[in-house]
Amino acid sequence: MAAEIQPKPLTRKPILLQRVEGSQEVVNMAVIVPKEEGVISVSEDRTVRVWLKRDSGQYWPSIYHVMPSPCSCMSFNPETRRLSIGLDNGTISEFILSEDYNKMTPVKNYQAHQSRVTMIQFVLELEWVLSTGQDKQFAWHCSESGQRLGGYRTSAVASGLQFDVETRHVFIGDQSGQVTILKLEQENCTLVTTFRGHTGGVTALCWDPVQQVLFSGSSDHSVIMWNIGGRKGTAIELQGHNDKVQALSYAQHTRQLISCGGDGGIVVWNMDVERQETPEWLDSDSCQKCDQPFFWNFKQMWDSKKIGLRQHHCRKCGKAVCGKCSSKRSPIPLMGFEFEVRVCDSCHEAITDEERAPTATFHDSKHNIVHVHFDATRGWLLTRELTRLLSCGI
Ligand SMILES: [Zn+2]
Ligand SMILES: [Zn+2]
Repeated sequence: MAAEIQPKPLTRKPILLQRVEGSQEVVNMAVIVPKEEGVISVSEDRTVRVWLKRDSGQYWPSIYHVMPSPCSCMSFNPETRRLSIGLDNGTISEFILSEDYNKMTPVKNYQAHQSRVTMIQFVLELEWVLSTGQDKQFAWHCSESGQRLGGYRTSAVASGLQFDVETRHVFIGDQSGQVTILKLEQENCTLVTTFRGHTGGVTALCWDPVQQVLFSGSSDHSVIMWNIGGRKGTAIELQGHNDKVQALSYAQHTRQLISCGGDGGIVVWNMDVERQETPEWLDSDSCQKCDQPFFWNFKQMWDSKKIGLRQHHCRKCGKAVCGKCSSKRSPIPLMGFEFEVRVCDSCHEAITDEERAPTATFHDSKHNIVHVHFDATRGWLLTRELTRLLSCGI
């Protein structure tokens, strides 16, 4: 097992440290227990397991607890060892784990949703339990009284939930591709705004409270970085996956974003880099380089007796150009394009080799990662494929 490592940028290739096996059923969520060589997992087979590393080097369950309904999600607070488990029947069950992680004691149940709980976040500072469900409800409860404090109906089933403790803003990403931002008061909430940038559903959200940046991963293969703080209001698309982005994690101390894809790709993005927004795509009836008309400009076509061309867009300047004037491809990492994209010929000439240098590192885990948890103190990355938990050192 890896020794403790000092926080440093994740530049090494992830190495498989341990396979945590034993469950034949789908593990829905798992977290690393900080400072312990342990992992907590919740599964579709209704079990909650705490895995501790034994002298043999293998992980064995120290707790094996069966819930009344499949466990869909969880939130673990290491300071209080409070474990909140979301169930398929809409209930959230709260437990306290013993110091040696050998016992879990029930505390209370919240009848939070009409159907499957999709996300939970426990906020110790406010004693709030935030949750979303398949019933398209966002709800928050007081964890001291167990009382429901309020709710909000989202446009689709939520698949991402993040909270900014200081300003009490909640971010909810849903399967329609929308991100809803609410400001929570003790017993009511106001809609601040909604973000629409993805063409597919939101699969994961990740909030950096220091830089005030929200990351959203989507089935449209992209991650969008919503720069909310500093009144910047910019949105930068990060294109580094060839498949659905399914999980996100942020390494605060090194300012690196880890995104995991359905194709097994793990991309580690350097967030110290200043990236620019992509330009708006310009509309034109003819190529903005050579003036050849595009195919729907019937009048000009008729006048000049020329066959219209297909309209393309340069990803760097946003100009509408024909295929001939945009025959070259280039990565533009500073705009979030780690892969080659269409650029017009003049932009292609203007892009320097320095600007082409990648701002992310790419790794192939060779398995479909649907959940990731990063433990910064040890550089451990816990990923999960359908029935196996893998702990990787990076
Ligand atoms: Zn042209
Ligand atoms: Zn251009």
